[in-house]
Amino acid sequence: MEKFEQIFSYINEKAKEYEKKESITFLDGVLQALEDILDEKDSWLGSTASKEEIRKAIQIAILKGMRKTSQPNHQMTPDTLGLLVGYFVEQFFEEHIKNNQISILDPAVGTGNLLLTVMNLLDGKSSATGIEVDELLIRLAADTAEIIEQPVMFYHQDALQKMLVDPVDAVVCDLPVGYYPNEDVALDYELCAHEGLSYAHHLLIEQSVNHSKDGGYLFFLIPANLFESEQAKDLHKYLKKHTWIQAVIQLPENLFASKAHEKSILILQKKSDEQRAPREVLLAKVPNMSNKQALAMFFEKVQIWKQNK
Ligand code: SAM
Repeated sequence: MEKFEQIFSYINEKAKEYEKKESITFLDGVLQALEDILDEKDSWLGSTASKEEIRKAIQIAILKGMRKTSQPNHQMTPDTLGLLVGYFVEQFFEEHIKNNQISILDPAVGTGNLLLTVMNLLDGKSSATGIEVDELLIRLAADTAEIIEQPVMFYHQDALQKMLVDPVDAVVCDLPVGYYPNEDVALDYELCAHEGLSYAHHLLIEQSVNHSKDGGYLFFLIPANLFESEQAKDLHKYLKKHTWIQAVIQLPENLFASKAHEKSILILQKKSDEQRAPREVLLAKVPNMSNKQALAMFFEKVQIWKQNK
């Protein structure tokens, strides 16, 4: 058995035991299993495994738990998307990470899968802050980060309320999509809707810009139709005022269950007096991932854009 499979089956067995013995959900059982690992209650198999092997094994166990008790906000960012976001973070910070660390914020960190995929890719060159409203998800994220020894501070709170986070170099976020119910809080935002409820995903973009350094980059997984809604005009106006759009990357349709679930990657830079807007916005479409030749051409297109930007 591969190391990854061994770790998964260890967590899986423990979670099943807890599910039966304590009448809790499998997902709660996964959390117990992770806490046992941290308490060193069992001889831990993972000490010789890589951070990626451990992350992937935990991810599969969490996905299994999410499928068993489906809840609308329990949506983990899949690896294909996490790795693409990570690729772009590496490209934008290529020079910086040669000698420095970057600080990252994920204001809707969920299970931590997206954030930790990016951090593993940056290989010791980052520290991060993760915010999440769901208590079970943030505990899973915090335990996973601790087991794979990635430096992340977690805050269990609504990311649209005041946050105690210093401005960061980079934001990564798979945006939760929908209306934000707290109208009083929404009033603090430029992107507050003129009528009715505001979009949580719009407000979260604004909050992320607020918590970025001047010149910092923001990498969002957005609904593919973000710029088509009735509130899109305000979003455009806001982005033009505070940011430079660097790239809009369409993702292959076959990664998503339906058209309504399709996502794209939006990359922004917070405006700064010391920098300038890119000469042109990178507009590209990631081809079907199984088409190696088309994929190589996509990465080449990104490189050419980068050299001329
Ligand atoms: N990237 C995450 C992962 O890999 O697990 C998945 C993110 S999921 C698409 C969006 C997350 O945003 C959900 O976990 C949801 O609970 C959280 N969320 C929604 N509204 C929030 C808010 N106002 N503040 C913080 N988190 C929020």
